[in-house]
Amino acid sequence: MAQPAALRAILREIWGHTDFRGRQGEICAQLAAGGNALVLMPTGGGKSVCYQLPAISRHRAGLGVALVISPLIALMHDQVQALAELGVPAAFLNSTLTMEEADDIERQVRDDELVLLYAAPERVTTPRFLGLLGALAARRKLSLIAIDEAHCVSQWGHDFRPEYVALNVLTERFPDVPRVALTATADAHTREDILQRLSLADAPQFVASFDRPNIRYTLVDKHDGRNQLLAWIRAEHAGDAGIVYCLSRKKVEETADWLNEHGIKALPYHAGMDANTRRLHQDRFLNEDGLVMCATIAFGMGIDKPDVRFVAHLDLPRNIEGYYQETGRAGRDGLPADAWMAYGLHDVVQQRRMIDEGEGADAFKTVMRAKLDALLGLAEAADCRRVRLLAYFGEQSDPCGNCDNCLQPPATWDATEAAQKALSAIYRTGQRFGAGHITDILLGKATDKTRQFGHDKLPTFGAGRDLPESTWRSVLRQLIAGGAVGIGEYQSLLLTEEARPILRGELRLELRRDTKPVKPAKGARGT
Ligand code: ADP
Ligand code: ZN
Repeated sequence: MAQPAALRAILREIWGHTDFRGRQGEICAQLAAGGNALVLMPTGGGKSVCYQLPAISRHRAGLGVALVISPLIALMHDQVQALAELGVPAAFLNSTLTMEEADDIERQVRDDELVLLYAAPERVTTPRFLGLLGALAARRKLSLIAIDEAHCVSQWGHDFRPEYVALNVLTERFPDVPRVALTATADAHTREDILQRLSLADAPQFVASFDRPNIRYTLVDKHDGRNQLLAWIRAEHAGDAGIVYCLSRKKVEETADWLNEHGIKALPYHAGMDANTRRLHQDRFLNEDGLVMCATIAFGMGIDKPDVRFVAHLDLPRNIEGYYQETGRAGRDGLPADAWMAYGLHDVVQQRRMIDEGEGADAFKTVMRAKLDALLGLAEAADCRRVRLLAYFGEQSDPCGNCDNCLQPPATWDATEAAQKALSAIYRTGQRFGAGHITDILLGKATDKTRQFGHDKLPTFGAGRDLPESTWRSVLRQLIAGGAVGIGEYQSLLLTEEARPILRGELRLELRRDTKPVKPAKGARGT
């Protein structure tokens, strides 16, 4: 069996790396020796080596080809090309190939010419492909099965793919072939699903830390997102390369235009642009200094630019996995980098609505809501962001000293009475109105709407004049994030069970004090 020294020799020979990183060596030894494994490693941690190296080692031992299952055609393509450059024969089978090309690759597989074969999950479970694998296994020429992006097997993963569930057929048919599942995103729930569905419960788990100590996390209250972003870039990241994530294509374009107008070189990127322009913008981002990419989440997969100094979110991501993956594109070089996000009342309402009105079965929506709640918990936290982030991935840590809350502990205030006023305004208006109208009532603003519904006659009308509008928005946001206020049709606010103890005075409510709005940038139009 392959010894660690022999494996290290392959690492040097093929990749030219001096030594293994983290637990790569242990993982390679486990697989090269024919064992199974679960590998959890953040993006950029070096997962590919973990299965490619054992594949080479076992191929040299006469054990045939390794099967790598990957859901992303573009990534498959990149990997095969990278392996070709390293002199390792590899190929992929997916829907982009012609019949002849696919036939030729199958022949190479049968003739034991390949070290690695990449395939899409839906292809793997076809009778034809299973037949091919069966013939290989019978001759002991199937060296290893690697399942990349293994979180796709779980409904809890943010990227559930039903084709992945069917992969358990591989375990049933080829129990003796070593099997490794790899992923960069796995909270405790997802991890459990992977172990179950891919029958890896008895396999050793190799869990790398998800901590990115050089990234400073900052989440601020959004008053005027664009101006806040501009002021922050000018103050902290003038001339730096960064990524600004927005939810919509329109906002991506507007934000890029606006930054350019204010002297920050920026480019848009989203799936609605034609492929050439997208490629051009991506290349410019990779090759020029100090460009800011304004993008939807369509941008970033497979982007390996080491000196991205900041990632900013102008809208709330859908969940912590997404937030972690997007912010993780900052500071790959290990130098200080920033993850900055502005979020507000509207974001919370919008994300809740998107789930409620979106596609999918109830069980799916329940999962999505729980994931959004976890992210809101992070956003509203008054304690260390990193501790919360890592806890989500099942990792315990101490306060980091390098996030906004550690560097400047947020003030909190007893918001019990304010919350009661807000909840009562929602209740007394029949739980049919949105945050704007409720705020107007609290502030005692005589608008057409308040008059039309007779809301200017309510006892709560003007009951909140002692606090500014921004505070009321903050109170409502935190009540929604905390679950005491739900969102109904047309973004109306309604009370949940959790509102009761607050209204009854049985629960004291300690809320974050809002940060001050920034002054608009010089020459900036309002938004
Ligand atoms: P992942 O798939 O986990 O995102 P990759 O396998 O793409 O990560 O590796 C990320 C980067 O780390 C690559 O540029 C790779 O060359 C580099 N790398 C991986 N292992 C090592 C190592 N042992 N020594 C030095 N660099 C490594
Ligand atoms: Zn911290």
